[in-house]
Amino acid sequence: MSEYTTTVGLEIHAELKTNSKMFCGCKNDPHSATPNTHVCPVCMAHPGTLPTVNERAVELVLMVGKAIGGTLADFSEFDRKNYFYPDIPKAYQISQYQYPLVKGGELGGVKITRIHLEEDTARSQHEGEKSFVDFNRAGVPLMELVTEPVIHTAEQAGAFARELQLLLRTLGASDANMERGEMRVEVNLSVSKTDTFGTKVEVKNINSFKAAEAAIVFETKRHIETLEAGGTIIQETRGWDENKGKTFSQRIKETADDYRYFPDPDIPKLLRSDRPDWSDAALEAALPETPEKKRIRYAALGLPSDQIEIIISDVAREAFFAAAVGDDSYEKLTKTLANYFITDVLAHLESGERVLDRAHALAFRALGALVLEGHINSRVAKDLMVEVVFDGADAKALAEARGLVQRSNADELIPIIDEILAANPTVVAELKAGKDAVLQFLVGQGMKATKGSANPGMLAEIIKQRIG
Ligand SMILES: [Zn+2]
Repeated sequence: MSEYTTTVGLEIHAELKTNSKMFCGCKNDPHSATPNTHVCPVCMAHPGTLPTVNERAVELVLMVGKAIGGTLADFSEFDRKNYFYPDIPKAYQISQYQYPLVKGGELGGVKITRIHLEEDTARSQHEGEKSFVDFNRAGVPLMELVTEPVIHTAEQAGAFARELQLLLRTLGASDANMERGEMRVEVNLSVSKTDTFGTKVEVKNINSFKAAEAAIVFETKRHIETLEAGGTIIQETRGWDENKGKTFSQRIKETADDYRYFPDPDIPKLLRSDRPDWSDAALEAALPETPEKKRIRYAALGLPSDQIEIIISDVAREAFFAAAVGDDSYEKLTKTLANYFITDVLAHLESGERVLDRAHALAFRALGALVLEGHINSRVAKDLMVEVVFDGADAKALAEARGLVQRSNADELIPIIDEILAANPTVVAELKAGKDAVLQFLVGQGMKATKGSANPGMLAEIIKQRIG
């Protein structure tokens, strides 16, 4: 049955990180613990109220569009998408239909169709016979990105969604947590044996990347099995049941006609030329470094891609690392810092007790440089790591004060070695008899006596000389 091709397009919604809602002054805080506190006559659709466009939300979508190389609309308008549901007070949602803010572009090798701006619905909660609605989320700015149907595997879809999440976080456009519903992925899938697409099914209620991937695998199998058994696929919307690991039929899919879209007469048309800071050049200049550009920069500094992915996967952590590397780092220092960052710094962060402060990034860099210059060895560096990285301590001053500066001076080390050899006659005899393994024990004693500050290679050399 391998002759079937799966084709997937994604529709991804993301709640934008603005202070206020999309069309009113209410606080944008959909996760607030107390329901129905961030509401006003506008987002509750009282008669006679008028919406005002949140320009920051427009700007964030334009930034995303710029980052993916899309074409930004010179002119845009908002439309009413009419449908009746308890979570939508106006009985229509303000969205963009004919004139989205962004068309085209590409992210992670996936072509983008469009990105538009709309408002989120309220949150419904069902408990037994009762249903509750929290309008704190109603009117929160929501970005919708639609990809071309060019994805063919679950892995590709997951990778795209993760890349978009990283981009949104990098731009500060959205926190994009799938588990919190700040980012929602819908899968449009069909299978076909020919160049013509098969019947498309939409899958919703997906609240993790893993669930998106699993839904694609499940639907592909269901489609193929249905077709092979002589059945037909119905165009419909299906939900993802996380517990059962399968999709289920929700409703027959509406078409655009069902929504009777029309331009919202209460909202003035958006002309980008009215805002000089929304020109292509101004947005380009204001754009933070994208994940793709970070990859290129770190690769040029000699970091392997697996390390780069770890570093750039968290925006705040990467900002700290980038500040440590600075504009003038060289390959050897960058690699040293990357190793310490991934093996030591991140381990301390995982425990959750410490947070990174960018003010201490240069102290971290200085620590790496001290190792490369041979002032301290790697073991001392690891011992000083917490104080330097999290408290901003001066590594050089600490090492000097504690007598941890690397001793590579033989004159200084010889008396220490002689003392150790005198105290361990049996071991010395074994070494003389050719039992090389005991050399490590003596080196260890030397490291202990120098509080880890000696150069272990040099200690081994001196021991061999002294007993030879
Ligand atoms: Zn409001």
